[in-house]
Amino acid sequence: MVKISFLGSCREIGRSGILVESKSGSKCLLDYGIGFNNDNRLPLQTDISNLKAIALTHSHIDHSGALPFIYKTCKVPLFTNSISLEITELLIRDMIRISKFPYPFGFRELDYLKQHTYFLENGIRQRIDDNFYLTFIDAGHIPGSVSILLEVDNKRLFYSGDINTQKTNLITSANYLDVPQLDAVIIESTYALKEHPPRKLLEDKFVERVINVTENGGTVLIPAFGVARSQEALLILEKYNYSGKIFIDGLARKVSNIYLNHPKFIKDIKAFRRIIKRTHFIKKRKDRIPVKKSSGVIISPSGMLKGGAAIDYIEPILNDPNSAIYLVGYQVEGSPGRGLLDNGIFEFQETNNKKDIFKNLQIEAKCDYDYFDFSSHADSIHLYEYIENLNFQNKNCNNIFCIHGDNKSTTTLASELVKNGYNSVAPEIGEIYQL
Ligand SMILES: [Zn+2]
Ligand SMILES: [Zn+2]
Repeated sequence: MVKISFLGSCREIGRSGILVESKSGSKCLLDYGIGFNNDNRLPLQTDISNLKAIALTHSHIDHSGALPFIYKTCKVPLFTNSISLEITELLIRDMIRISKFPYPFGFRELDYLKQHTYFLENGIRQRIDDNFYLTFIDAGHIPGSVSILLEVDNKRLFYSGDINTQKTNLITSANYLDVPQLDAVIIESTYALKEHPPRKLLEDKFVERVINVTENGGTVLIPAFGVARSQEALLILEKYNYSGKIFIDGLARKVSNIYLNHPKFIKDIKAFRRIIKRTHFIKKRKDRIPVKKSSGVIISPSGMLKGGAAIDYIEPILNDPNSAIYLVGYQVEGSPGRGLLDNGIFEFQETNNKKDIFKNLQIEAKCDYDYFDFSSHADSIHLYEYIENLNFQNKNCNNIFCIHGDNKSTTTLASELVKNGYNSVAPEIGEIYQL
C-alpha cells in the first residue's frame, strides 16, 4: 500500500507539501513551501522519520520556501535542477531578510539544504530506495519547473506541480507525452474555473498600449513578479521590436542575470540576450531618480504592488495622465494592485522599522491602468485537455487529487472529473489516501 499525505495547498494556494510513503515505510517529500497566511505559514507537521529524499517542482516559495525547516532535523538529498536551486536560494534569502514573520529557520538551514542538493535531469529515473524512483518531466510553468513521476511499490503517481501547457516566449510548454500509464495524479487547480484570453491578441493589445503611452512621452510601469513574468514581459517587447527605453529593477534584475547563466532552461536565449543587452539595469536607489523623469518602460516587482522597487516609482506615474500602470499577473483580493484595478485608487502602507521609514500612500490614479492576463498556469480548457491526455493503468483505478487552488476551484474540478468517470477528490489538509 502506498500512502499519500496532503500537508498543504489543499483548497488553498500556498504551503505545498505532499508526503508519499511506501509499504516498507520509506518516504519522499514533494515540495515544501510556505503559505501566505500568518497563521498557517508552514505545511502541516508530520512524522518524517525514514525520509529518503525531497523532490522540488520549482522555485516559487509556495513550493520551496519552507524547505530549510526540514534541514533543521534531517539531512536528506534534495533533488532539483541548477536554475531552480539558484532562484530558490535567492527567494528564500530575500524572504528571510524582509519578512516580518519569524520563520523557524534561517540561513544556516539554507546552507545545509544546498549541501544536500543533487541535480536531476528531466527524463532520468532516479532511485531513492528499493522499489522507489522519481523522474522529472518538463512542466512549462517557469524556467526549470518540472512535474514529478514517482514509482513506488509498482504504483505510478504523477504530481503535476504548477503547469502550463501553452508555450510562452520564455519557455516551452509542459510535456505530457512522456508520461507513462498511471495509478494516480495530483494536479494543480489554480485556474480550473477560468479561461485565459488568447495569448496573441493579448500581446498585440499590450504592446500597442505600451507604444501609445511612451510615444506620447509617458512612462509605463509594469509591476511584475521578479521570477519569469518580468522576463516574459521583456521578451514580448523584444518580439514586437519595441524601440523605446526599458528599465528593470529589484528582484527582476537579479533573476534575469541568473537566467542568462542558465541558457539551456530558456527557450530562445539569443532573443533574451538581445533584449537584456538594451535593457537598463537599475542597480542603485539613486539611479532611479533620472528613470522617473524618463519616458519608457519600467519593469519592477512586486507584481501586486505590495512592496518592492515598483513603489519607489509609482507616485509620479499615478499623477501623470500621460503615463500608465499595466499589471501582468493575478491580483489577490486586498492587494494594492487589486485596489487600483477595482477602485482606481492606489493605497499602500508600509513601515520599515529597521530604517524607521513609514510610507503611507493614498492616490487616485490619473494615469491609465489595466490588467493583462499573462498567466503561467493552464486554464480550465487546458487543464481538462491535459487530464484527458494522461493514461491510467487500470480504467477503474483513475485517481485524481485536485490541489493548489481555492476551495471552489479544487472542489469544482474534482466534481467535474467525477462526472467524467474519474475517481477524483479535493483533499483537505492532513488527509491520507492509500493506493
Ligand atoms: Zn509556481
Ligand atoms: Zn504554486
